[in-house]
Amino acid sequence: MSEVLCIPGPVTVDADVERAFAGPIRPHYGDAGVAQHRELGGLLRAVMRTEGDVVMLFGPGTAGLEAALASALAPGDEVLVVRNGFFGDRLAEIATALGLRVHPVGAGGRQPARAADLRAARAAHPGARALAVVHHETSYGLVNPVRDLCEVAREEGLLTVVDAVASLGGIPLEVDRWSVDLCVGVANKCLGAPVAVAPVSVSRRAWAAIDDGRPKAAGWYLNLATWRRYERDWGDWHPYPVTMPANAMEALAEALRGIQRRGLACHQARLAAAAARVRRELRALGFQMLVPDEHASPVTTAVCALPGMDVAHYLRWMRVEHGLRLGGGLGELHDCVFRVGHMGAAARPGVVDEYLRATADYVSAFAVPRALTKHGS
Ligand SMILES: *Cc1c(COP(=O)(O)O)cnc(C)c1O
Repeated sequence: MSEVLCIPGPVTVDADVERAFAGPIRPHYGDAGVAQHRELGGLLRAVMRTEGDVVMLFGPGTAGLEAALASALAPGDEVLVVRNGFFGDRLAEIATALGLRVHPVGAGGRQPARAADLRAARAAHPGARALAVVHHETSYGLVNPVRDLCEVAREEGLLTVVDAVASLGGIPLEVDRWSVDLCVGVANKCLGAPVAVAPVSVSRRAWAAIDDGRPKAAGWYLNLATWRRYERDWGDWHPYPVTMPANAMEALAEALRGIQRRGLACHQARLAAAAARVRRELRALGFQMLVPDEHASPVTTAVCALPGMDVAHYLRWMRVEHGLRLGGGLGELHDCVFRVGHMGAAARPGVVDEYLRATADYVSAFAVPRALTKHGS
């Protein structure tokens, strides 16, 4: 039995997406490649809610994040980074590796960053050029208020870099209306496709920063200016600087066509309904959620283990007995938290039924005591 991925990416994809992936090898250039480039660009702009440019970078989400920071900023530039989880820390690590100077925004921990935190960080670091923030912090299943933060960033003249790797397609996100300058997504999480490209939206302000003449941290490949040049100069036959995963891109196009057919709001509501049900029914079994409902992600749920519960055993049992792969806790939460993804096939009502039934069985079979844990809320 093949397992169903109930993790925050990669995800188990629909059969039509799998079929699109499995076809004969396609070229990424020539008439078919150019047609694919145009269609996929349009589909991605629609889901990112932008009329601006979207670069389809070949690489994982991290490649898009590194390209965004490195293309727009120069070594020595100051950047404000929200660090309230594993991926916020990762953003800071990428920025530091690029020679940028990182200043934290907010108190960290498992608290979402607030507009007031950003104002305070800005006042303390008036030379900062950019804000970098994770939309959905997947390590905790926490959502940062990107809209509010970008509004302040715009007032303050800060360029905004948003890690929407785990939110694009799954959580409402408005690149143009919220004035996100560089927004990075990925195919293999909420969009329900295999690993393919990391779309990066680039606003006019972002292009202006890229073109401001200062030597940037970027090299050649993870450089948005390179990708733009090939799209401009070779757009009618080979709109990319490198060979692309055209089959995986066809699968992404198929997934996006499906979202367009069903409606983006409907796609998001499906994931959110799975999350709400999992939170409600796990609470009835005595579990506590790591993050309170008001900041909780509708696409990944971090759950505190019951006292005495062996998380590794539970995860293995779910996989072996039920074919469901869940996520563990990251870092210091390794032994006391598990994560349930609601992306892709994990949002199917039948899969949610099976997961909840199995967990109820596990709790009674292993007689896990019900009591408060120190991490919960
Ligand atoms: C998964 C994830 C990443 C990393 O994505 P890769 O595709 O593995 O590079 C970055 N940020 C967030 C918030 C994520 O969930």
